[in-house]
Amino acid sequence: LPVVAILGRPNVGKSSLFNRLVGRRLAIVDDTPGVTRDRKEAETQLGGRDILLVDTAGLEEAAPESLFGRMRASSEAALEQADVAIFVVDARSGITASDRAFANWLRRARRPVILVANKAEGRGGAANAMEAYELGLGDPIAVSAEHNEGIAGLMDAIVEHLPEVDAPSETEEEEDEKLLRLAILGRPNAGKSTLLNTLLGEERMITGPEPGLTRDAVAAKWQDEQGPIRIVDTAGMRKRARINAKLEGLSVASSINALREAEVVILVLDALLGLEEQDIRIARLAEREGRAMVIALNKWDAIEDRAAARSRVADTLETSLNQLRGLEVVTISAATGAGVDKLLPAVRRTHERWNRRVGTGALNRWFGNMLERHQLPLVEGRRLKLRYITMPKARPPTLTIFGTRAEQLPQEYQRYLLNGFREEFDMPGVPIRLQLRGTE
Ligand code: GDP
Repeated sequence: LPVVAILGRPNVGKSSLFNRLVGRRLAIVDDTPGVTRDRKEAETQLGGRDILLVDTAGLEEAAPESLFGRMRASSEAALEQADVAIFVVDARSGITASDRAFANWLRRARRPVILVANKAEGRGGAANAMEAYELGLGDPIAVSAEHNEGIAGLMDAIVEHLPEVDAPSETEEEEDEKLLRLAILGRPNAGKSTLLNTLLGEERMITGPEPGLTRDAVAAKWQDEQGPIRIVDTAGMRKRARINAKLEGLSVASSINALREAEVVILVLDALLGLEEQDIRIARLAEREGRAMVIALNKWDAIEDRAAARSRVADTLETSLNQLRGLEVVTISAATGAGVDKLLPAVRRTHERWNRRVGTGALNRWFGNMLERHQLPLVEGRRLKLRYITMPKARPPTLTIFGTRAEQLPQEYQRYLLNGFREEFDMPGVPIRLQLRGTE
């Protein structure tokens, strides 16, 4: 459940806002500072999304330091688990020194922060709310929790910042079954058909053409201990009828259809030939389509100098396919079946990575370290500032970075972040999308 935390100094109206958003009178509201003693949590729905709303009111008295110190102490735990923070200020009393200190702290905490100016009811309210601009947390949203004004706009803003949910797959049946869609691609004669037969033979599956796929695609479906697998293959299965001089060009084009239907691609290489131009093209295509990939280095039985064959492939991967860095290479002999049992576990691992979500908290802790380790570059004489990072979706993993002029982040720094992310969250062989969002 996405967590939304309401933060701010005492008596700015956090509990009233909490009640408004929850739609029930759960917390005790009173005009005396520090009235609500416990942290309140409630599950509620905003814009069709279920969220857990956390109110930090009442925790301010916990630590006997400065007001800012108390606010920070009370908010730290809530913020830690939050996907989105709502920072509430009081539009009527204006921005105070502790608001400023708290805003600075929040910026460093690297979370989406929605700035809310509460008690902005009536005609003067919006003007008072403007003062909150100075906090540097973007446009303040003027609301009145008590008079129920501006709440719909706030709800929209919250929903906008929630981590996205994955689009449901084509049919519910497939969703229920946790179907793994797999494509076997590679150059002609790499051993795709042989591999398929070996896989299917071993698993004693149901095979045969299935209607409803792309015109020339054929699918095979079977089940292993971890769930059903469907293999979508075009080139490999049709090739018997098509052996001619044009096949080379044709197989890349027909790979595209299989790619679009697949989640994970097994790229079959002929180990005698290594990783060549056409293989790299297929791999880049898979990467561009956001598909995860595993390499099956086939005909391993026919290789004499295995160490050399392996390092040749590794070198080419390093230089030509940096985006898929660290992808799994499984040596197999499709003809004899040797090593084929290691292939599907590698595919499952890669599939799991491709599907994985990383929480906003862990993501931003890592992000903060990365920014500390390497100072952000100057662009046009000004130092870039990045605020926080979210992972709005998986399949493939997609990261969004927010910050002042974030869209100007140089390629080199983007690569540094992507490689760091892959390493930290164990996502080798998975293409990662990076979106940059400039904020004020
Ligand atoms: P496709 O065009 O990628 O489907 O390739 P095929 O499966 O038709 O295989 C092409 C050729 O490679 C055939 O002559 C296979 O017998 C041979 N082959 C396939 N796998 C292996 C293997 O593991 N070892 C060896 N030595 N030959 C293989």
